[in-house]
Amino acid sequence: MTNMEFRTYAHELVEWMADYLDEVEKYPVKSPVAPGEIIGRLPLHPPASGETFAMIFKDFRGTILPGMTHWQHPSFFAYFPANNSAPSILAEMLTATMGAQCMSWATSPAATELEERMMQWLGEMTGLPPSFTGVIQDTASTATLCAILTARERHTAFRANAEGLSTHPRYAVYASTETHSSIERAVKIAGLGAAALRKLPVDARFALIPDALESAIADDVSRGIEPLCAVATLGTTGSTAVDPLRRMGEICRKHGLWLHVDAAYAGTALLLPELRWMSEGIDMADSFVFNPHKWMFTNFDCSAYFVKDASLLVRTFEILPEYLKTREGDRVRNYRDWGIQLGRRFRALKLWFVIRSFGVEGLRERIRAHIALARLFAQYVEAEPDFELLAPVPLAAVCFRHHPVSQDDPTALDSMNAALLEELNRTGRVFLTHTKLNGRFALRFVASQTNVTQRHVDAAWDLIRTTARSLTSTAPV
Ligand SMILES: *Cc1c(COP(=O)(O)O)cnc(C)c1O
Repeated sequence: MTNMEFRTYAHELVEWMADYLDEVEKYPVKSPVAPGEIIGRLPLHPPASGETFAMIFKDFRGTILPGMTHWQHPSFFAYFPANNSAPSILAEMLTATMGAQCMSWATSPAATELEERMMQWLGEMTGLPPSFTGVIQDTASTATLCAILTARERHTAFRANAEGLSTHPRYAVYASTETHSSIERAVKIAGLGAAALRKLPVDARFALIPDALESAIADDVSRGIEPLCAVATLGTTGSTAVDPLRRMGEICRKHGLWLHVDAAYAGTALLLPELRWMSEGIDMADSFVFNPHKWMFTNFDCSAYFVKDASLLVRTFEILPEYLKTREGDRVRNYRDWGIQLGRRFRALKLWFVIRSFGVEGLRERIRAHIALARLFAQYVEAEPDFELLAPVPLAAVCFRHHPVSQDDPTALDSMNAALLEELNRTGRVFLTHTKLNGRFALRFVASQTNVTQRHVDAAWDLIRTTARSLTSTAPV
């Protein structure tokens, strides 16, 4: 492709991109394709000679697009969002154009120094103590793995890195039953063994019970197992429950545990001063992660990882072969030593574009609006005799189910709600997902998509009610 052709196609694509964002509501939110349908339409072998861009783009629209789930659809209420926004897309276009690999200061000084400043901005925006230093990771899963590895190295005085774990005692990591699966994965990868993870019970609000943490630690110590780390979740994936951070911090301090805070989704809500109660006690944490790529209108991927003591992180990961040595030495940051990967994308640019374009107040307005929409939806649920809430709504996720007054069999309710979810998603007009709370099937309604408005929430509620009614009226007795 010549540069002249690139220029032409790029203009065409921008028109298509703007149209897509304008018209995204005309697509089914969740792709209706069957497994194997897309791969069946793809040639078995690569083309021997180059094809025209017109052909490639035609196939993008005809073959790929029908197999996409539209995460930027305002009626995307599933999982947690992966929001983008116009300024973020524009930044990604520039990032792709420069194609820089930003592993060290020297490989693009602006990328390193902008990242440093953006992490300071994010720390200030979320009310972190100024002593925290940040680095951008790809995902919260990676950040949590970094936290557990650093906890392991601090605890063993960097001997696990040097000698491996075979001569070490057994360790324990603590989190609640509602904790994200990435914690268990990190415990496994860190060589501690999945059995090292203690999943502690939660209270009626699905938050970790501090007394259970105390007694689990005492129990492990009495058996010669060394407590290593606890993970507090602000905004669990199931129901956005908030673990009691200060109490957990006090317990961790008393017993010398690392405290990692996973706020992957809810971290963005810390922009709101009225929600800072969630992070009360954050000064006691050793590490904290949240994902601007979920709720903060920044294209996937972009995860903000903060640590209290950056030297521990760097000592855990640092490697300095001859070919990576540079003249600047200690005077600059080399983010390649702040995590697992060597090569790094330039992710700070989209944060800079997003934060400047929205402004902090603009971001706050959107987030407040999302929370208000979730509260509205929760009111709809509460006002309807055949529906019920299954968890408190501290943020913008609502866990609920259809519960006709005449039906009290738990298994029947589970399958009725599973059928309701399937039918709703089949319409293509909304996309919701589910979780289990106290062992029961719960629908999740997350009102956090960049462009969601009351019109979308009202339409979704209408659809949910009528679909539930039609399913119960046709159900076999
Ligand atoms: C989404 C989520 C994660 C995982 O985030 P990734 O960035 O996809 O790794 C971890 N913890 C919580 C609480 C989450 O909601």
